[in-house]
Amino acid sequence: LLDALADMGALAIERVRLVEDLDRAERAAETDRLRQALLTSISHDLRTPLASVLGSASTLRDLDAALAPEAKADLLATIIAEAERLNRFIVNLLDMTRLEAGAVAPNLSAQDVAETVDTALRRVEAVLAGHRVSVAVAPDLPTLRLDPVLFEQVLVNLLDNAAKYAPEGTMVTVRARMEGRRVRIEVLDEGPGLPEGDVERVFDKFYRVRLGDRVRAGTGLGLAIARGFVEAMGGTVTAANRPDRTGAVFTVTLPVPARTVPGDLAA
Ligand code: ADP
Repeated sequence: LLDALADMGALAIERVRLVEDLDRAERAAETDRLRQALLTSISHDLRTPLASVLGSASTLRDLDAALAPEAKADLLATIIAEAERLNRFIVNLLDMTRLEAGAVAPNLSAQDVAETVDTALRRVEAVLAGHRVSVAVAPDLPTLRLDPVLFEQVLVNLLDNAAKYAPEGTMVTVRARMEGRRVRIEVLDEGPGLPEGDVERVFDKFYRVRLGDRVRAGTGLGLAIARGFVEAMGGTVTAANRPDRTGAVFTVTLPVPARTVPGDLAA
């Protein structure tokens, strides 16, 4: 009987190994497939704006004298906007690479939430120009230990999305308040919201709900980076739909340092 049991045990172990080998092979194939898809997607994302820049610049050069001033201004605006898009994409790729290499070491210092929110809003002023903006930061928030550069980038990514996906004229709201021992910061919009039941996927690298929508095209990295940065500072970021699908809400929570009490700005 013992021998039989030992045989069965050996067989079971053998099967586990086989399954593991299969898993590994499947994972390797999947990784390969993903890497290929990634390269295709990156090439596309780099070439589309670049083609625009080259096209507009060539038109400017070739037709210079024949172009009306407004047409020239349009072409220049396209060149700048597309170059900015390229730049954003490359910055995003670098941020993502740094995150994945574990090379993001937050440089923590005492930060005032209201001030950081203001700075972030100023940085996205141009993209939010067509929206209404409402800010409600509780007055007595404690100072947080944050990396201001990372935190600002998180807010910029969230606000940039609100501007991109919610129609012009709608309200973008930033709220911040205490919740237990954490500060809760929310960015709410009145756009189409997120795919029901699949909300978490928006944080996946290169995930985009409306692929091929070039007008609103982004990198699919903004939220993955936001999550990476927030988690590097000990916080969380989640996504949800507002009641009755009236828009999306992104919630960041950050821990209040143990020694600070609300209103203590010196900590
Ligand atoms: P992207 O550069 O494509 O905006 P993100 O990582 O920032 O990449 O977002 C991933 C996807 O999540 C977007 O392509 C979009 O489909 C969806 N998404 C993000 N924010 C919002 C929002 N505020 N409202 C609706 N959809 C959003």
